[in-house]
Amino acid sequence: MAAANRFPQVESWSVEFTELGKPQPVLPSYKWSSPVENMACSNPACAGGGFAMGPLYAELIASRRTDNGANGESIPCGGSEFAGRKPLGKTCQNRATVKITVTYRPGK
Ligand SMILES: [Zn+2]
Repeated sequence: MAAANRFPQVESWSVEFTELGKPQPVLPSYKWSSPVENMACSNPACAGGGFAMGPLYAELIASRRTDNGANGESIPCGGSEFAGRKPLGKTCQNRATVKITVTYRPGK
């Protein structure tokens, strides 16, 4: 189920996503007005990685907070690096900073 439907008590979303790592130290940032759940990792050598934001939303809403901190939270990719099909034995070091701000519907 889409996160927006899982959290009907949320009236508005602001999600800022910034990825850090490869191929550039600072990768493009995104800002959404909806709870985007997954982003692919930008590291060209990474396989099986990506950034799952659903757990961040669940934790925030469960605790009734309106944001996840002034600087958001940093989450690791956790994929593995490959050269072609050959594993390099390295965990992808890309990370993403996710800053979430929500407002709640009155009375919910
Ligand atoms: Zn990765």
